[in-house]
Amino acid sequence: MGEIINVKEIVSRKKENLKLEIEELKSKGIIPKLVVILANNEDASRVYVSKKRKLCKELGILEEEYIFDETVKEQEIEDLLEKLNNDILVHGILVQLPLFKHLDSKKILETISPKKDVDGFHPVNIGKLMQGTGSIVPCTPKGIMTILNEVQPNIEGKEAVVVGRSLIVGRPMSALFLNKGATVTTCHSKTKNLKDHTSKADILVVATGVAHLITEDMVKEGSIVIDVGINRLDGKLIGDVDTENVVKRAKYVTPVPGGVGLTTVYTLMENLVELAKSLALK
Ligand code: NDP
Repeated sequence: MGEIINVKEIVSRKKENLKLEIEELKSKGIIPKLVVILANNEDASRVYVSKKRKLCKELGILEEEYIFDETVKEQEIEDLLEKLNNDILVHGILVQLPLFKHLDSKKILETISPKKDVDGFHPVNIGKLMQGTGSIVPCTPKGIMTILNEVQPNIEGKEAVVVGRSLIVGRPMSALFLNKGATVTTCHSKTKNLKDHTSKADILVVATGVAHLITEDMVKEGSIVIDVGINRLDGKLIGDVDTENVVKRAKYVTPVPGGVGLTTVYTLMENLVELAKSLALK
């Protein structure tokens, strides 16, 4: 019988360290500031934004929000981004996805300065990740590395299997594993015989949005299983992994809720502090 990783405990320990770094920045006259832009009608986005706001407050980070309704024009957001790019008191800019359908997300994300791209979605930062030189990495995969560091610090030579190839989770996750010397397989909806791949994984990351896609028979004995999925079923939040049964075979499994989601929000703050530090060096 394996263990459910106590992600809450990991995050609260990391937060204490981050608070010290923020205090040090403040002693140099720099107060990290995050600006969030919300241009959609999604309840889930509002929940995420309020979690981010709460954590900013807890850590002593300044936070400002711009909320737009459906009448917003692309140019308005781009003009705002240009203004924020040039504001020396702003260290990180986050455009909450998805955006209203009439807005071009790619163009808007590319308008954010790579130096203020707290989410790590700008092509420059993605490129650096591919080169293995970047430090601003999308929050969910970077947060997963934080969790893994606690239970399996050395992943060199391990079989890492990532299910999902989105730009925000699957692809950057695979790149991070590759950069750390793991042997990486990326699966997706067109993958044949998914179980053949997942059952080889020493480390399995699942980010599909398919409730309980991964069952006990699909994982390797003694493996680490990271569940990114968030699915609502009968009013309950469940992951992409059948945790209750998978934990009988795996060594470690992350829970949903209270797992990867916690590190994602925390990592955003880590990225912000890193951007504030590097802008301060300029
Ligand atoms: P996307 O919908 O962008 O990507 C899902 C990926 O899963 C795609 O690559 C898709 O393949 C693949 N996929 C879908 N069905 C299957 C299947 N049956 N077998 C194998 N692969 C499959 O989702 P995201 O990456 O944005 O998010 C994934 C999940 O993680 C969602 O539940 C989301 O809510 C959650 N999430 C959680 C976060 C957290 O902090 N906890 C943060 C971000 C997301 P293909 O490319 O071929 O379509």
